[in-house]
Amino acid sequence: MQTIQSVHEMQSLAIGMRSSGRLIGLVPTMGSLHEGHLSLIDIAKERADKVIVSIFVNPTQFGPSEDFDKYPRVLEADLEKCRERGADIVFNPSIADMYPDGYSTYVNEEHISAGLCGVSRPNHFRGVTTVCLKLFNITRPDIAVFGQKDAQQCAVLKKMVADLNIPAEIVIGPTLRDEDGMATSSRNEYLTGAQRGEALSISKSLKIAKEMVDSGTRSVDRIVAEVTHHLSLSRRIRVIYVQIVDRDTMEPAREIEPGRHLLCVAAWADQTRLIDNIEL
Ligand code: AMP
Repeated sequence: MQTIQSVHEMQSLAIGMRSSGRLIGLVPTMGSLHEGHLSLIDIAKERADKVIVSIFVNPTQFGPSEDFDKYPRVLEADLEKCRERGADIVFNPSIADMYPDGYSTYVNEEHISAGLCGVSRPNHFRGVTTVCLKLFNITRPDIAVFGQKDAQQCAVLKKMVADLNIPAEIVIGPTLRDEDGMATSSRNEYLTGAQRGEALSISKSLKIAKEMVDSGTRSVDRIVAEVTHHLSLSRRIRVIYVQIVDRDTMEPAREIEPGRHLLCVAAWADQTRLIDNIEL
């Protein structure tokens, strides 16, 4: 496995690989890799000849009072995991190389980004689309693999690729969960045992919603009310949103159509912001 820091070196290598006919798969991450990330590497390996994992804690997608400084950075352990999982290249650029002094160009998806996390994290998706377009231009992927855990991010990036005619396919991997149902996340590392116990109510509430739909409930109000109630029973959990939306447009649902709609939840577990979603 090769480790590359330089943007220029990565881009030259990718252009060479692509012109020799190799299919490139990219898995963009912010590191602190867990099984969820590694499952995306597996998908990329099935679909591509060369798998590039990018590890970059992207400053432009964090708000001023968010956790950029304390975000976990464990490069050596991440490299070991990538090597074990069979990645070909880890691209780990510096902030100075990605955003040199005077950097001033941003990409903004204006519709799908607006709701859900876009409300409380106003510049978040602008940072995500900008860094992903930069990573696509640097690594020239045929496919780029993202996790359904970040459903709004998936929808925004699919729209960016369509709108800007980017010659890459966005592939979505399913949400990987721990045995107790909690979605694996780098931010779970912030949680104490007690906080994690209460944060479990998030995945449990998604399960309750899914069971309601499976047994015939189609009312958005009823499901949102039940989920909100379940979350309110956990003392450390503060709901940011509970919404049922179209999986592609992220527009609020009026009545649930199974297969089309997602229930999306964001909540604080004390100081840690967590998100999760389920297809209804
Ligand atoms: P992050 O490092 O948090 O930016 O995540 C990098 C990629 O991993 C994104 O595409 C995420 O959606 C994906 N991801 C994060 N958690 C999970 C999970 N539990 N299951 C599947 N994919 C995930």
